[in-house]
Amino acid sequence: MTDPVYPVYVDSNVMTGRTGSACDNGSYEGLKYIAINEDNNFKPEIPKEKVDIIYLCFPNNPTGATISKQELKDWVDYANRNNSLIFFDAAYEAFIQDANLPHSIYEIEGAKNCSIEFRSFSKNAGFTGVRCAYTVIPKNLSGRNSKGEEINLWSLWNRRQSTKFNGVSYIVQRGAEAVYSDQGKIEVSKLIEFYMNNASIMRNKLIQAGFKVFGGLNAPYIWIRVPDQMTSWDFFDYLLNKANVVGTPGSGFGLAGEGYFRLSAFNTLTNVNAAMERIINI
Ligand SMILES: *Cc1c(COP(=O)(O)O)cnc(C)c1O
Repeated sequence: MTDPVYPVYVDSNVMTGRTGSACDNGSYEGLKYIAINEDNNFKPEIPKEKVDIIYLCFPNNPTGATISKQELKDWVDYANRNNSLIFFDAAYEAFIQDANLPHSIYEIEGAKNCSIEFRSFSKNAGFTGVRCAYTVIPKNLSGRNSKGEEINLWSLWNRRQSTKFNGVSYIVQRGAEAVYSDQGKIEVSKLIEFYMNNASIMRNKLIQAGFKVFGGLNAPYIWIRVPDQMTSWDFFDYLLNKANVVGTPGSGFGLAGEGYFRLSAFNTLTNVNAAMERIINI
């Protein structure tokens, strides 16, 4: 896992008993945490040792960082060399503005042999409360069980899905289908443009207000360095009390998120402008 990270990856593994014990500082044994911060430009360093499963999310929640095709190729090569499995979370691919960035891990040679990709309608089409997503598992992809035997993952997943999950409701599936219609594509691209305009306003205003600002160029999240040695939660209270603006403390995404803060561009233009004015005028 990177640190900070989308908390679901850690918590879901903890809940199914796939990590070791909880440590006093809130981390878990059995997980390798790769710190991402200003020093490495929020790019996770490839581990020296073998790991079994790698979670990558680009464009990234919470930092808004991106990965180039070459950087992703280095991860794919590492995974193929070490028999590791990459879980690539592409939830924010629709927000990519830079034409050189990969939208899918399968754009990378060799990825079909080591990667599973998560995709969701939650962010591109505002389906967060509607619930529809999908998982891409190449048919020939295999993993290894505890005895080191090769296991076909597509058939395992198919078994799991058809046993534990009865599928997305039909009406929601028809809604998701409409995302791919000509009209749907136009609406989605307008929605993305709208939120990325919010992100751009937020970036500019926050930079103007003297904040150290990351992300927001290919992702709907702005990741800021908390000023004046405050903790993430100190800054949460400060922003709430002084500006009546709410954001997400970076420490909620992992130990290395301490000292950072996430702001989301998912709001109306009126609210974004009002929030920025209030922050600037603190
Ligand atoms: C929102 C989000 C998702 C999508 O989750 P759903 O359960 O499909 O709503 C996936 N990954 C990340 C990093 C997210 O932020």
